[in-house]
Amino acid sequence: MRVEILSIGNELLSGAIVDTNSAWMAERLYALGARVEAMHTVADELEAVAEVLRRTAARCDLILCTGGLGPTEDDLTAEAAALAAGVALERNAEAAAQVTEVVSGYGLAVTERQLGQADLPAGSAVLRNHHGTAPAFALTIGACEALFFPGPPRELQPLFEREVPPRLPAGSARSALQLRTFGRSESRLADLVRAIELPAGVELGYQVAFPEILLRLLSPIGAEREEGARQVEEAAARLEAALGELVYARGELDFPTFFGEALATRGLKLALAESCTGGYAAKLLTDAPGASRFLTFSAVTYANEAKVGVLGVSPATLEAKGAVSEEVALEMARGARRVGGADLALAITGIAGPEGGTEEKPVGTVCFAVSGPGEHELCLTRTFRGSRERIRRGGAFTAFELGRQAIGAGAGRRL
Ligand code: AMP
Ligand code: MG
Repeated sequence: MRVEILSIGNELLSGAIVDTNSAWMAERLYALGARVEAMHTVADELEAVAEVLRRTAARCDLILCTGGLGPTEDDLTAEAAALAAGVALERNAEAAAQVTEVVSGYGLAVTERQLGQADLPAGSAVLRNHHGTAPAFALTIGACEALFFPGPPRELQPLFEREVPPRLPAGSARSALQLRTFGRSESRLADLVRAIELPAGVELGYQVAFPEILLRLLSPIGAEREEGARQVEEAAARLEAALGELVYARGELDFPTFFGEALATRGLKLALAESCTGGYAAKLLTDAPGASRFLTFSAVTYANEAKVGVLGVSPATLEAKGAVSEEVALEMARGARRVGGADLALAITGIAGPEGGTEEKPVGTVCFAVSGPGEHELCLTRTFRGSRERIRRGGAFTAFELGRQAIGAGAGRRL
């Protein structure tokens, strides 16, 4: 089945917004067993859109279009589709009823401009949009079916999930599985992975969500459903066995959430003391709901006075060792644990840059400390490279890794 994607909008060509719709659809199609053969991006211009539609329809089975279905003058997609198919643009009663219903739902009277979104090529099938006003539609152009979706991702995505899979050849969907790793660079990981033999035809892809690296497995194209699932499972098991602790989970769970769940499962309370990360560690741990099960306290102690006043760091240690030191990190962690009434605490203090580095402590130097559980204490200094963002993100994740080790949360789905 030949599938191509067409995204329409001046804002895409000016660089004002990034075309995430095409990437999102391509990724979904890939997992559904259909490869995208080409992607096109076209301006909001009648003849330009019609021309690409005509050309693409001549060689494709399915075209997925997004954008240009709104109520403003630049939204010309429906008109261009009519031009390409050689049919008239006419008010579609079903689409008009849908627009009226959505607008009335906001307690407003429908305007002629809004109703204009119901002017569709003759012969279109309306695809109900439950997340916005603009109706989506399907139209046959020559021997090709074209689906027209609105641009906003939150409208597009549910429409895609409902309308596209049933149009693909039965049984083409591939089994997918994702392993989440943390702790090695992509090249080091690739070296380790290369030595592992995977079942023939299973595809392995890398995706970096710094500092995590996701290993994505897809069953062989054309494999029967159960057999494909078995092969992907076999590949995952071999990777997990070979990579050990580097694989911390399967699926969608990011590392901060994994760590939080590991704490919650054990009934352990955590406190944080942050300097250079400015609360980023706390932010990451509270991104997922339910953080109150394990997080009691977090202090951003940027100034020395705050480290002393809030956390009880000794001025003498600050004076002797400097704010970025393992000694200060340890006193920060001890203080956060005490003040937060927690079982364990993590402290982070470092130089995120771009200024402030010295010969002895260059930009990227970050000191960590763990206090707890029980008598456990540990300090570590790491030097991160890259932007301020990467240093801070790397710092927060490293603190979580130290916490993970401190509570003995192992790898591979065992929280
Ligand atoms: P439109 O349907 O062309 O009126 O698009 C409405 C809005 O959807 C745009 O302003 C963008 O915010 C978003 N949008 C349109 N096309 C895309 C795309 N290809 N990728 C991501 N967002 C898009
Ligand atoms: Mg537009």
